[in-house]
Amino acid sequence: MLNNLIGLDKFDLDTPCLTIDLDVLESNIGLMASFMKERGKEWRPHQKCHKTPAIAWKQIDAGAHGVTVAKVSEAEVFASAGIRNILIANMIVGQPKLQKLAVLCRENHIIVGCDHYVQAEMLSKVCVEYGVTCGVLVEVDIGLNRVGVRPGRDTVELARGIDKLPGIKLEGIMGYEGHLLLIEDPTEKLEKIKESVGLLRHCQEMLVKEGLCCDIVSAGGTGSYQITSDLDWVTELQAGGGIFADPFYQTRCKVDGLGYALSVMATVVSRPNLTKAVLDSGRKTINPDICLPVPKDYDDAEVVRMSAEHCELELGPKSQELKIGDKVELLVGYADFTTPLHDNFIACRNNKVEAILPIHGRGKIQ
Ligand code: PLP
Repeated sequence: MLNNLIGLDKFDLDTPCLTIDLDVLESNIGLMASFMKERGKEWRPHQKCHKTPAIAWKQIDAGAHGVTVAKVSEAEVFASAGIRNILIANMIVGQPKLQKLAVLCRENHIIVGCDHYVQAEMLSKVCVEYGVTCGVLVEVDIGLNRVGVRPGRDTVELARGIDKLPGIKLEGIMGYEGHLLLIEDPTEKLEKIKESVGLLRHCQEMLVKEGLCCDIVSAGGTGSYQITSDLDWVTELQAGGGIFADPFYQTRCKVDGLGYALSVMATVVSRPNLTKAVLDSGRKTINPDICLPVPKDYDDAEVVRMSAEHCELELGPKSQELKIGDKVELLVGYADFTTPLHDNFIACRNNKVEAILPIHGRGKIQ
């Protein structure tokens, strides 16, 4: 039924709906891929912002050597779409997940994060039972203070333990400098990221000295990749969200050179007074956490409140022309929490619908 939409102008779509500007998306993917390539880095983009195999393939076609996901069930989605090299940048705990993971390892190169020997032991046991090998990266806490083993001797000790276990293979280390994305001063941001990701260099040197494998040093998100990819010791980057380059990245993290690719099309359903318009796109279609949506073609309109089904705009003199029934394109502030609310991306080129991309990873939360 959705195929009926092909060729339609995006301003004629029923709302609210999630749209991609394909020209911008493809340009962002190309720019990110060449950025990594020019610096001699592998690109393993995180899929959490789109959860969509068709987009993963665009990234791989542009040069990504694999993908990063957060969940085993997401890995299943991408593996069944033929993507073989998958990092699950998370600790995998519990028999149902471990068994699914072992099955995935039969035909794919799967790597998981690990920050405690207990996780490694559980993983090793299942892998031995299934006769498979699973790659492991030691997750190091480089200051985010979320998960991760302490850098230094604790990292080496865990790596040594993993190295001795059957069924799993130590491949290196990972860390995420996500606590440093919003530093305003560019020099300070550069210095702090170098210092934080520098902890991975120290760990890498220690592992190599001990004769332990550290082929992979994985780090970097969209808010930091333009700095992290210049660090010699980093081998691959996980930056993913830059393909949409949401306002969060461009405005708050000061990532430049990329364009806005993701929007929700909405309709004005009420005009309670001169300075207020209400849209049909509430929190059930666009999540305002992290960063509010931004009205694309109305620079004097601002989102001031969102409830389940309503988005309230405060209008300046120019946008007061908006009337009931008009369409407003809202740039999604931060894709990760909005994408999983939708079944599909409606992919447009020159404002015409070109393709419907099913978000196969939607609901894959385990
Ligand atoms: N890697 C990990 C483990 C993350 O948790 C995140 C963001 O939360 C990222 C990378 C960066 O992702 P993105 O580039 O989409 O901001």
